[in-house]
Amino acid sequence: MTGRRPRRAPPEQPYAPGTHLDWRDSRHWDYEHARPCRYCGDDTQLRDSKGSAAHKVCAEEALAAQAAETAAAYRMRGT
Ligand SMILES: [Zn+2]
Repeated sequence: MTGRRPRRAPPEQPYAPGTHLDWRDSRHWDYEHARPCRYCGDDTQLRDSKGSAAHKVCAEEALAAQAAETAAAYRMRGT
């Protein structure tokens, strides 16, 4: 990388709840314990890809917010 090549903004995707993550795999479910969601604090048996307790909708909202912030940052740099 030369550092001079302009970066492209990530593609903009409208947020559609329930469509970003696929948590059907059993590793996303803790059969033993409900733990507080890392985002909202309510108990859940769902686990994210790193094994932290998290509701799927909370994780998706966090991802969408992060993507929106990243897109906004790219737009600010481009002006
Ligand atoms: Zn939550």
